[in-house]
Amino acid sequence: MLATIISHPSCHEHRMPEGHPECPERLDAINNRLLASGLDGLVMHRTTPEVTHEQLRRVHEADYLKSLALSAPPPGSDRIIPFDNDVYLSAGTLKAARHAAGAAVHGVDLIMAGDTDAVFCNVRPPGHHAEPDRAMGFCLYNNVAVAAAHALAHHGLERIAIADFDVHHGNGTQTMFYNEPRVLFCSSFQHPFYPNTPTDVPRDHIVNVPLPATCRSDDFRAAIREHWLPALTRFRPQLLLISAGFDAHEEDDMSSISLTDRDYDWVSRELRALVDRSRESDNPAYHCRGIVSTLEGGYALSALGRSAVLHIKALAKL
Ligand SMILES: [Zn+2]
Repeated sequence: MLATIISHPSCHEHRMPEGHPECPERLDAINNRLLASGLDGLVMHRTTPEVTHEQLRRVHEADYLKSLALSAPPPGSDRIIPFDNDVYLSAGTLKAARHAAGAAVHGVDLIMAGDTDAVFCNVRPPGHHAEPDRAMGFCLYNNVAVAAAHALAHHGLERIAIADFDVHHGNGTQTMFYNEPRVLFCSSFQHPFYPNTPTDVPRDHIVNVPLPATCRSDDFRAAIREHWLPALTRFRPQLLLISAGFDAHEEDDMSSISLTDRDYDWVSRELRALVDRSRESDNPAYHCRGIVSTLEGGYALSALGRSAVLHIKALAKL
C-alpha cells in the first residue's frame, strides 16, 4: 500500500517575523529532499481540506478559537501580530493552521477508508504545544490531538497511541488527553527545557521520557526501547499518530541533544515494525490500521529535509 504525503499551499502563507526559525522554507526543505531522493514518485500526494470548527472544538475551547479569529490581521494585510508566547498571526495564519489540523484529520480518514496505511503531513504551523485555551511555542491548533479526537469521536476507535519525538515536551497533547485513557501518549524530550510544564504525572497512559541535554544516539535509543516500545506493545493501538519533530538533531540549534539522521530512521522503523507486528495477531481488534505522522519542530533545514525523508521512507517501508 502506498504511503501518502498530505500538504496544502496555504501552509506557506503563515508568516513569522523576519529570520524566525519556524519559516515556510521548512516545508520546501522536505519537498526538495523528497524529490532529490527519488522518493517523491513512490508516494501518493494529497491536498487537505480545512479542519472544521466542530473538529477543533473537541480539544480547544470556544473562547480561544474566537479570540484567534478576532485577533488575526485581515486578508491582504502584511502585518505580523504577536499573539501569545512565541506565536504570531499573519493574514495567512489561520488558513494555514486550519489546513495543518485538517491534514492530520484527513490522514485519519484516508487510513480508516483503507486508502493508505502511512501518512506524513508536511504542514505548518506545528501543534503539540497548543493547549485547549491558548497558543504557545509556534503552535495554534493542536494538530495531532485534533486527529486523535477525530479518530475517537468520528471513527469510534478505542485505543489510539501518540508518539512524540520532538525535542520539546508535547504539553498541549498531554493536557488534552490527561483524563482520556483511550489515548496513550508517549513523549521524549530534553529536560529541563521549554515548555517547562509538569512531566512527572500520575497517569499510566502518559509515558514521559525526559532526556538530559547531553543525550546522544545510544541514550535516546535505550530510553525508547525501555519506555516507549513496551508501553506501545501492551496498549495495542488501533491507530498510531506521530508528532514528528526533528529539532533534537545535532545540527539543530534549538536544543542541546545530539541525534542524527540515523536515529530518526531508527525510531521510525521501530514504530512501523510495531504496526506490522500488530497485524500478526489472530484477533483483528488488535490490528493497528496505520500511522499518521505530522510535522512538529525541526529548524536546521538540511537536517530537517534529510531526517524527515528517512522518516517517511521508514513509514512507507521503502
Ligand atoms: Zn520542538
